[in-house]
Amino acid sequence: MFKELKSYLDENKVKLVAVSKTRPQKSILELYDQGQRLFGENRVQELVDKHSELPKDIAWHMIGSLQKNKVKYIAPFISLIHSVDSLGLAQTIEKEAIKNNRKINILLQVKIAKEDSKAGYDIDQLMTELPDILEFKNINILGLMGMGTFTKDTNLTTAEFKFLTKKFRDLKESTFSNSENFTEISMGMSGDYKIAVQCGTTMVRIGSLLFS
Ligand SMILES: *Cc1c(COP(=O)(O)O)cnc(C)c1O
Repeated sequence: MFKELKSYLDENKVKLVAVSKTRPQKSILELYDQGQRLFGENRVQELVDKHSELPKDIAWHMIGSLQKNKVKYIAPFISLIHSVDSLGLAQTIEKEAIKNNRKINILLQVKIAKEDSKAGYDIDQLMTELPDILEFKNINILGLMGMGTFTKDTNLTTAEFKFLTKKFRDLKESTFSNSENFTEISMGMSGDYKIAVQCGTTMVRIGSLLFS
């Protein structure tokens, strides 16, 4: 599966984050040996353990909801945090980035699904808090992240992904018009990545399809 998926994504200039949560190191190394370097995890402890034990040229992405008191464990090495959904979390990331004398890349997670269970910023709340987040000098905002509704209704998924792409483009033309960093839309998982590609994603997060 890896090779076909990778070449499909390469053709469309979309990055692959291999979501390795709950998968053993052996399975991760099988993909590593085929050239995969971006891996995503959703739990801090597992991320820290895998980072310390696996090859150092892996770029680790945090994709799950992140508690403020755990930011310090990943701040020294994390390559991208997809799940920033509050000013308080951004502020903590800024503080830990300064302590580690580095800049930390983040995405702002926007709630695009109607389901209550899905995390992320309400878009209006994001617009309210964004000016304050922009003040943080040790945070690089690379773009937006969203999770579609878990559904077979492709029209619904398409509408949600198009909404995120539209918000990304609006922000790119306004707030981020002078920023070279604001380039990424993280959307699409095993069940909906093809729709995400059609809707303009730049980064998909795929687990079950790759590892099963
Ligand atoms: C688990 C997870 C994924 C991957 O889901 P699959 O359906 O296994 O591809 C993507 N994004 C987030 C935030 C996840 O928690």
